[in-house]
Amino acid sequence: MLQEIRNKVTQYNVLEHRAKILIVDDQPLNFRVMQHVFENQNYELFVATSGKQALTFCQNSPPDLVLMDVVMPEINGLETCRRLKSDENTREIPVIFVTAHSTDDEENACWNAGGVDFVAKPVNGRTLLNRVRVHLTLKFQADLLRELAFLDGLTRVANRRLFDERLELEWRRNLRTKTPLSLVLLDIDHFKAYNDFYGHQQGDQCLQQIAAAMASVPQRAGDLVARYGGEEFVTILPDTNESGAVETAERIAQAIRALQIPHEKSQTDSIVTVSLGVATLIPTLDEPPEALIKRTDEHLYEAKAQGRNCIVSGLKSGAGL
Ligand code: GH3
Ligand code: MG
Ligand code: MG
Repeated sequence: MLQEIRNKVTQYNVLEHRAKILIVDDQPLNFRVMQHVFENQNYELFVATSGKQALTFCQNSPPDLVLMDVVMPEINGLETCRRLKSDENTREIPVIFVTAHSTDDEENACWNAGGVDFVAKPVNGRTLLNRVRVHLTLKFQADLLRELAFLDGLTRVANRRLFDERLELEWRRNLRTKTPLSLVLLDIDHFKAYNDFYGHQQGDQCLQQIAAAMASVPQRAGDLVARYGGEEFVTILPDTNESGAVETAERIAQAIRALQIPHEKSQTDSIVTVSLGVATLIPTLDEPPEALIKRTDEHLYEAKAQGRNCIVSGLKSGAGL
């Protein structure tokens, strides 16, 4: 895993990415000069002619880097940058100021607003290109590390850390909207026997197949599939009631059954089967998100007790699959 991260980061080449750069400037002459500098470079350029336009653009399709003019009518560049930095969705976009100012106070204002660098006007093309390349490289490397830090190395679905973070977030969000939040927890049946008989490597492959099948099912934007622990996987389903969650659990079980992975040593079937626990809560201030995990886990335990290869929820218990 570490070696994989190291390779990806060191082999990274900024020019292969076709990065999106947003130029924010109210003067057509200025952004034309910059467009000229970026000619023949492998970048996708966009222009916003006001702070307001820039903020809207960054919300709708975040660029990889912003080149920001300081002096603009209405919302100036410093304020636009501050707003980008105070919003979770746009915080990570690096902002380079393009400024005609050169006093210490004016430079400090750029740093204070959250800029990563600045380039003086009139623009020296080579300086601009180099600064942009450096900051794009740092941005992509940081993105990659963030992504890898939240991914399970074996199965490539989200890891436990991301699950915990997302559940906390969705708990608070569903608390505000007073909507139901559901979990589906899955545990592979007789997986120890599978490992013992087929070997650990094939066990790993089985985990990868199950994770992929599970990830192919949930479809809504806020849904998240994660590896909960060894041979347990979990799906967060925000704004989903219990019958919707049971339906998702059925589709997951169906996708896994369709894999038809042979399991000679299973006491349940001749193929790999799974047991699923489903639970739903409308979050309240009195309970932590762990209350939902606990209930889901109890249902999973019941599914095991009822003979495995089945789904247990608050609505329906143990109907065979
Ligand atoms: P049950 O039907 O009650 O769930 O029985 P089980 O054998 O699946 O459950 P148990 O908890 O006894 O065993 C889980 C097994 O999962 C034991 C462990 O070796 C295996 N396992 C956990 N993580 C990994 C992994 O990353 N790779 C492989 N190959 N096996 C794993
Ligand atoms: Mg287990
Ligand atoms: Mg198991």
